[in-house]
Amino acid sequence: MRTIGHFIGGKEVEGKSGRFADVFEPMTGEVKAKVALATKAEMRAAIENAKAAQPEWGATNPQRRARVLMKFLDLVQRDYDKLAELLAREHGKTIPDAKGDIQRGLEVAEFACGIPHLMKGEYTEGAGPGIDIYSMRQPLGVVAGITPFNFPAMIPMWKFAPAIACGNAFILKPSERDPGVPMALAALMLEAGLPPGILNVVNGDKEAVDAILDDADIRAVGFVGSSPIAQYIYERAAATGKRAQCFGGAKNHAIIMPDADLDQTVDALIGAGYGSAGERCMAISVAVPVGKSTADRLMEKLIPRVEALKIGPSTDPSADFGPLVTREALERVKTYVEIGVQEGATLAVDGRGFKMQGYENGFYMGGCLFDNVTKDMRIYKEEIFGPVLSVVRAHDYAEALALPSDHDYGNGVAIFTRDGDAARDFAAKVNVGMVGINVPIPVPIAYYTFGGWKKSGFGDLNQHGPDSVRFYTKTKTVTSRWPSGVKEGAEFSIPLMK
Ligand code: NAD
Repeated sequence: MRTIGHFIGGKEVEGKSGRFADVFEPMTGEVKAKVALATKAEMRAAIENAKAAQPEWGATNPQRRARVLMKFLDLVQRDYDKLAELLAREHGKTIPDAKGDIQRGLEVAEFACGIPHLMKGEYTEGAGPGIDIYSMRQPLGVVAGITPFNFPAMIPMWKFAPAIACGNAFILKPSERDPGVPMALAALMLEAGLPPGILNVVNGDKEAVDAILDDADIRAVGFVGSSPIAQYIYERAAATGKRAQCFGGAKNHAIIMPDADLDQTVDALIGAGYGSAGERCMAISVAVPVGKSTADRLMEKLIPRVEALKIGPSTDPSADFGPLVTREALERVKTYVEIGVQEGATLAVDGRGFKMQGYENGFYMGGCLFDNVTKDMRIYKEEIFGPVLSVVRAHDYAEALALPSDHDYGNGVAIFTRDGDAARDFAAKVNVGMVGINVPIPVPIAYYTFGGWKKSGFGDLNQHGPDSVRFYTKTKTVTSRWPSGVKEGAEFSIPLMK
């Protein structure tokens, strides 16, 4: 069986802890690899390595740093199919979906190629007599990223590409459930010309994470995962004076106005609700039709579409979605469906009994659809993270606007309408970080920033886009005076307003 170690100092090294986690192939349910779980001492060794390598990389001019990323883009293109298949086999998503995962990561690496421009400072000539002021952005030093299982290519690239472009050294602690692609990406960065020690992948669990959080040499932590862990990381990282941006879970609503094009809306709900088996932080998990007639028409169109969803192994490109990531995740989602039934919601489509022929041990379930879900139910309040869509019927627009606005999570939201006024009002007033207008998954393009509100995001600044450069650099401001002819007398006070 394959054993996955760590990528430290420019090479794969074996784990020394003797502790391993199983890496499953969700489509067959088989264990295909064992990943090493690092000790605190192994993490410390990786950080020291990164710390030694960083000053030279930070002093390398930004266009040279950008060239490494440009080469990396080519190498990922070369290995695209191989990476996508590895990703699909470790995660469970289909190969076309895995390609999308890689693509959305590459777009952020492309953005980071503009680092010579992005890191430019400001300059004011003549702020006073003989006085000029300028600001410069400098790397932080060694920074870390802790990432979830559901986008094992995209989110690591969202973290390491801008951080490294800014001149930092990076420690990546990916999810222990699908570490293969992050390890492969680190090897490609090295092949692209990145000096050893600048990108390190240290696999592990809570022990490795806590070692990052408590290490004084780590200056910033970027986290993506579930909300309780996001809050924990944020608090513990801040306690040691680090910058922290920690993105958490979600409950994304789609508001369907009476004038919406229902065929387009249903297409959007099927893709955004069930794609990747609902294991996306931007998945739509709540549909809110406005008015009884909208709700009835929606259900009539939605039920047959959910029943017709094609579930298949990750290697079947015609499947709508594949298995869930682990048996534990599958059982958790099924338990939520049972909770919804107990709470009195109407289970309009029940996919729990689905079995994949020829893959009986895989972690599959069919799509589930609930109607008549209410605000007080756990299936509405909590993140399920599976192929389950809940319909909450709203009487009017005001009630529909209040639902996502009052929810604990605030990652993404969408409105489906033909009315520009309603769309504009919704975008302005809804208390959620990312809004789609007739767009079900409003993940901003790489040169904008990505981030949720409320329990979906802890800390300052968003991921990717210009915020990533702010997050991974510190600003120094220089005030300089070059007197043109020294006058008599010296000033000892700070300048006063006259
Ligand atoms: P998770 O919180 O279980 O794990 C995320 C990371 O934290 C992993 O690297 C894991 O090893 C580590 N971790 C887990 N438990 C820990 C603990 N007790 N102490 C320290 N570290 C710990 O999340 P997951 O199941 O891998 O990913 C799914 C979650 O991520 C969902 O809630 C999803 O909504 C969220 N997510 C959010 C975004 C976003 O941008 N907001 C994007 C993708 C996923």
